[in-house]
Amino acid sequence: MKLSGFAIAPGQVLGKAFVFRRAERQVPFRSLDQRAVSAERERLQTAFRGAQSELADLRARLSHEAGEAHAYLFDAQILMLQDPLFAGRSLTLIEERLIGAEWALSIVCDELRRLFARASSVIAERSHDLDDVLDRVLALLGGTKGDLVLPRGQKVVLVCEDLKPSEAAEIDWSLVGALVADHGSPTHHMAILARSRSIPCVLGVRTATTQVPSEALVLVDGDQGFIETNPPPQTRVEPVRESTRTGPPEGPARTGDGDEIILRANIEFPSDIEAVRESGAMGVGLFRSEYLLSRQGRAPSEDAQLEIYRTLALAVAPHPLTVRTFDLGPEDLAPASPSSPNPALGLRAFRLLSRAGDYFRTQLRALLRAADEVAIRILFPFVGGVGEAVEILSLIEELEGELQRAGRAFRRPPLGAMIEIPSAALVAESLGRTFDYLCVGTNDLIQYTLAVDRADPRVGHLYAPFHPGVVRLLGGMVSAAREATVPLSVCGEMAASREGALLLVGLGYRELSMAPSSLRQIRHVLAASRTDHLERAVALASKSDSLTAESFAATLLSVQEGR
Ligand code: PEP
Ligand code: MG
Repeated sequence: MKLSGFAIAPGQVLGKAFVFRRAERQVPFRSLDQRAVSAERERLQTAFRGAQSELADLRARLSHEAGEAHAYLFDAQILMLQDPLFAGRSLTLIEERLIGAEWALSIVCDELRRLFARASSVIAERSHDLDDVLDRVLALLGGTKGDLVLPRGQKVVLVCEDLKPSEAAEIDWSLVGALVADHGSPTHHMAILARSRSIPCVLGVRTATTQVPSEALVLVDGDQGFIETNPPPQTRVEPVRESTRTGPPEGPARTGDGDEIILRANIEFPSDIEAVRESGAMGVGLFRSEYLLSRQGRAPSEDAQLEIYRTLALAVAPHPLTVRTFDLGPEDLAPASPSSPNPALGLRAFRLLSRAGDYFRTQLRALLRAADEVAIRILFPFVGGVGEAVEILSLIEELEGELQRAGRAFRRPPLGAMIEIPSAALVAESLGRTFDYLCVGTNDLIQYTLAVDRADPRVGHLYAPFHPGVVRLLGGMVSAAREATVPLSVCGEMAASREGALLLVGLGYRELSMAPSSLRQIRHVLAASRTDHLERAVALASKSDSLTAESFAATLLSVQEGR
């Protein structure tokens, strides 16, 4: 069976599927020996205690972030865990029926579900709480990592609906031969991750998790964008050829007529830093720091973060390490908290400051302290306009005051704004007068400009980086940054594509940041092109109402051939 999707990261892999379905509940059945009963009861009681303490933590956090009025949501679940009908009966069933804790618990939940269904609709609603509690206790009984623990041994083809950054952070990627997901598109975080780790990847397959059986043999073709389960036995996969590598290239890239283009790297995990050095990048243009958070939403302490930032910055010195502050939503901080109806437009990044201020304060304190010793730049995502700039600067001043009073050494590093919301693009000149540098996040800028969800494969064909509206915004920012005399860069995926990088340089961008795995190719592409040709091609292409990457490439070719 062949299923198609987006060709995200090149390479062909034939391997066994590991299907990760977040929603699927696995309840193992075991019958017990009489002698094992008391240990099994103790095991369940320990899981109950663990679940209660997790819920108490969540409750405290929600009360802090969203107010006491919302925190009561967890009270029902905490009470359930203390209810004799729930906990007591599960323990009794272990003893009476000689069955494992998981099975006993699921019997009790079925009984309660039936009871709830017969009651009023208000009570029936409690079924959701029941499911939540059941999942929490089952996870604790099976170890907190749940079903995301990949089998050791041969690399697997990881098939999932999608992956949250915190889940991705927990995976041992050395065990993943290829990545396939129902959701996602070329600019989804999973795509960025797969490319940066050079893992063949197909996204937007829609029914992969329902149609690919676990352990089935799957061929993943990341070049053409399809997967095939149980391919014909003669299917051969060429081993991935390691390109014959010379040492890392040094210094900025150069166009054929000698213009310097600074290339930096985008990273998600501290362990990516080796690839950055290998790629010859002039430092890190974007560290997506939210990948530091655990699945439960916990961030490393201030001192631990200080150490991480210092180590990473030293590894790329004398070039800078650009750390983007946590770009996340409430669901990343507390997995059980309700996400916004439309997370892309909801409470994100600094919009969470009044609810989850500690995350940002801790991170910024660590960054201010690290900047005293190493070359750090702070980058703020999701800035919509000057209002946020004022809020950010006043927080920085407040934290500097705190550090001063505590006798801590610190320094204010260059502060930058990500331009990824159209309103910010339109007021880029004002933002350039407030921040020290600007960095365009084309992934989001395109999604917001075109109203096309970058994570939804059903509208993937409408996601058009070369849309004249997008190109106009991109061009406008070059003039805005010149007026404000601030450095301007691009760190979205557009910079990592051949035509995208050429268009950006033709528009006047001189700094691009991308996955380390794309850097050598883009350096090459730039060396083969002249800036004057690129500028001419951009001027001609900008007249088109139906510009695409292909039509831009054709225009450039005709300019290069002097037609
Ligand atoms: C962007 O939006 O272009 C970007 C670089 O950030 P992310 O992909 O993490 O949203
Ligand atoms: Mg973004």
